Amino acid sequence: MGKRKSKARVITVKKPVLAKKFKCPFCCTPDSCEVAFQKLDGMARIECRVCAEKFECTVTSLAEPVDVYASWIDACEATAKEGADGSGAAGMLDDL
Ligand SMILES: [Zn+2]
Repeated sequence: MGKRKSKARVITVKKPVLAKKFKCPFCCTPDSCEVAFQKLDGMARIECRVCAEKFECTVTSLAEPVDVYASWIDACEATAKEGADGSGAAGMLDDL
């Protein structure tokens, strides 16, 4: 078996193009919310350029903008639930 002269191995990491802009959960403007990572701090921030709502969360180095957005939506829903506690604001949650 002769030694094969090995080519330099190039590992290509295919990065799917992911959305970086999202619809604002507050003013409902499409693509108005943009995510900015501050990876050194392990933080990410998403901010709406229309209504200036913003949200910050801690992220891992693997986090994608959509993860930040999802965290924001979760936080919004949690807040909405707290606020709606027993107030009779049924909204989207329809108890059967
Ligand atoms: Zn907004």
